[in-house]
Amino acid sequence: MRFLHRHTLRLLVISLATILVQGCSGSDDTDPDGFTNAQDTTNTVDTSIPDSSTNPGDTASNNDLGISDNGSNTDSGTTSDPGSGPINPSDEVDPNCTDGLYTEILPDPNASIQSAISNYSSNGYMEFIQSILETRFPIGWYILEGGLQSNAGFGPNNCVDTFLQNKSAASDVISRLSTLVHECGHFFNLGNMSFDSSTYYINPTLSFTCNGGSNQFGGKTFSRSKLLEDEYQSQFVPCESGQFTGCDSYASLYLTGQMGDQGFDTLLEETVQYVNSLATGYAFHDQYVWQVSERDGILTFLWYVERYLRMARLDYPETYALISGDACWRSAILTVWGRAWLFLEETKDIQNLGLDDDLVINLVRAPELLEEIERLRDLEGCP
Ligand SMILES: [Zn+2]
Repeated sequence: MRFLHRHTLRLLVISLATILVQGCSGSDDTDPDGFTNAQDTTNTVDTSIPDSSTNPGDTASNNDLGISDNGSNTDSGTTSDPGSGPINPSDEVDPNCTDGLYTEILPDPNASIQSAISNYSSNGYMEFIQSILETRFPIGWYILEGGLQSNAGFGPNNCVDTFLQNKSAASDVISRLSTLVHECGHFFNLGNMSFDSSTYYINPTLSFTCNGGSNQFGGKTFSRSKLLEDEYQSQFVPCESGQFTGCDSYASLYLTGQMGDQGFDTLLEETVQYVNSLATGYAFHDQYVWQVSERDGILTFLWYVERYLRMARLDYPETYALISGDACWRSAILTVWGRAWLFLEETKDIQNLGLDDDLVINLVRAPELLEEIERLRDLEGCP
């Protein structure tokens, strides 16, 4: 009975977490999931969540709960995957370690999708999504399809219908694709988590299922809201309501309220999905008519991960022992770091994929924060 009770509770928590996750696609002009205009997402969140707060981006925080997972460590990942890596790896990865060795088949932003666009009909939106993702970013389709097939049970709609309200024109769908892959990625991972573990699908041949990463259910991590107290946040202060640039537009959503109460497992989950956001943006950037914040999103989360590692090492030894000492967590972090820089490198000269990215990238490059990643490489036994 006790187990059943806890299991039920956990499912509830997971459900709430997903709604919370919906909030991540947020809604202001610099929607955390990357779009300058995400009005429809906001509506979705508002209807899903009874007590939304003043800022739509904060809506998610009403729900959360630090959900997620914990468990023991089952690294199902193989380090890398067949595919083509960058010709010039970024300086932020070690070409001889897990992060720098990560490769995948990169999107092809030059592949023609004109025929699919010309033949678009709103009834065929799902086929359209599949077609253009398979043409330009097959791994994006893998992630999105995984979310569609997820038994996460978050509300009556699948992940696409939940986050795609306007399907009138092909351009409406394309403008939401980055968010759709991101949110379906959440459905995919959360739908496949078990009672005590967190699952992260990276690509068709690589996933991680790690345990104990929550700050609930016996997990050993601390609330990410603690990051607001470190010495780095003051270098890029949380945006006030109505402010979208020149400040951290992600902090109020992800580091406060019930979202802020969550532990490392969901911090990494968001980081995984912000890589997917940028990868999708890279694949379709020629179609964008707005400047978007997709580089800002992943850079901000890399900054959070670095700071979380540092705070854990200095102040929370039990947490640090888990996320640096457990091979599953360590490898997952390094893999996501490597995948993120793969796309940051590919998109470094694409102006419409970032807003404050030049500023945030310098925060991520703080030498003592990069050392936190280097420590993981040392623990990984990299040469
Ligand atoms: Zn998200």
